[in-house]
Amino acid sequence: MGVTFSTVFRHLSDPKLKGEIGDPTMYERFWQQAGDKSTIVIPGWQSMSYFSDAGSLCWFLEPDFAQEIIRLHKIVGNAVTEDRHIVVGTGSTQLYQAVLYALSPQDAVEPLSVVSAAPYYSSYPLITDCLKSGLYKWAGDARSFNKEGPFIELVTSPNNPDGYARQSVVNKSGGILVHDLAYYWPQYTPIISAANHDIMLFTVSKSTGHAGMRIGWALVKDEEVAKKMVKFVELNTIGVSKDSQLRAAKVLQVVISSCQYPTTLGSLFDFSAHLMEERWRLLRAAVRQSGLFTLPEFSPGSCSFLKRSFAPQPAFAWLKCQELMEDCEGFLRSNNILTRSGKHFGVSPQYVRISMLDRDENFYIFVERLSTIHLRHSIQDETGE
Ligand code: PMP
Repeated sequence: MGVTFSTVFRHLSDPKLKGEIGDPTMYERFWQQAGDKSTIVIPGWQSMSYFSDAGSLCWFLEPDFAQEIIRLHKIVGNAVTEDRHIVVGTGSTQLYQAVLYALSPQDAVEPLSVVSAAPYYSSYPLITDCLKSGLYKWAGDARSFNKEGPFIELVTSPNNPDGYARQSVVNKSGGILVHDLAYYWPQYTPIISAANHDIMLFTVSKSTGHAGMRIGWALVKDEEVAKKMVKFVELNTIGVSKDSQLRAAKVLQVVISSCQYPTTLGSLFDFSAHLMEERWRLLRAAVRQSGLFTLPEFSPGSCSFLKRSFAPQPAFAWLKCQELMEDCEGFLRSNNILTRSGKHFGVSPQYVRISMLDRDENFYIFVERLSTIHLRHSIQDETGE
């Protein structure tokens, strides 16, 4: 193949981390081609104050950014913004913690249980329990949760890692739902209707690909919950980088105008939906050729934004190894493919998660390696290696 393992991951000092994080570098090509349209200049004297909009509920939210969030949801049609408070966070990761803080009673005798149906996003348990809070505690798979009393259920839709659309699974009262909609964008799944939940989390990381900007937003119905989330961000980081918010506002503005006045490149969503479709086609072909794995199957749905019907094409491939292979992550690592084991997502190590959002060069090497695994193994079997 002429490409070594180290060339593939030369961009990072720790290749292991790279394999574990879904870094959305696939989007760089769109932004390179968009050229200077998304460039902003921030003079030294600008954005110096802690405050963005001192009188408003979320006083560190840049009004221009708030406006672009509303415009983007309106044009894509993926979430209701009317009668909602917008809370900005340093990534939706900070907002997740702000939500836990906001929903947990301060005077409870025991921590509030936090659950999500397995396979769940592997960071939820880690973030929830990292400070061993007295307010909330990770309580595992929502499907087997049967403790009495209040709880928080995280509903990630489309789900990380398996890409399926989801609804709440805990069938009892007392639960508060938090919807993580990081992937509810038309490049990953058909937009069926505008999500209309009480607490919805979004991020630029997976919508525009700007993970390094560290910007997320929450749409929150209840004013008291929104105020407590603001309080958390205030205590945690005294607001959110204004520079990043201004840059995010510009990026969303460019995305919106790419939808309204598409060039030959198409909108950001045309570009990325197309790329995801192509990548899933190549991945499925490689999996068929290898004969060693299976992938989730999805039914098509009609997308109100892209005005066509297509099956979900998630940001991650949730690969299941043949019954005989117990440690799929180890097996793939021995074939120079870095993945994250199913055990981190609350299921068996027979599963692994693989990012579909890497740069073209890395993605093509990955599918090439996957499709020829069986050949390498038959050679090894013959030579007894
Ligand atoms: N929620 C889900 C489901 C995710 O997959 C991710 C990123 N992997 C996040 C939240 C975190 O996003 P951010 O980069 O905005 O912190």
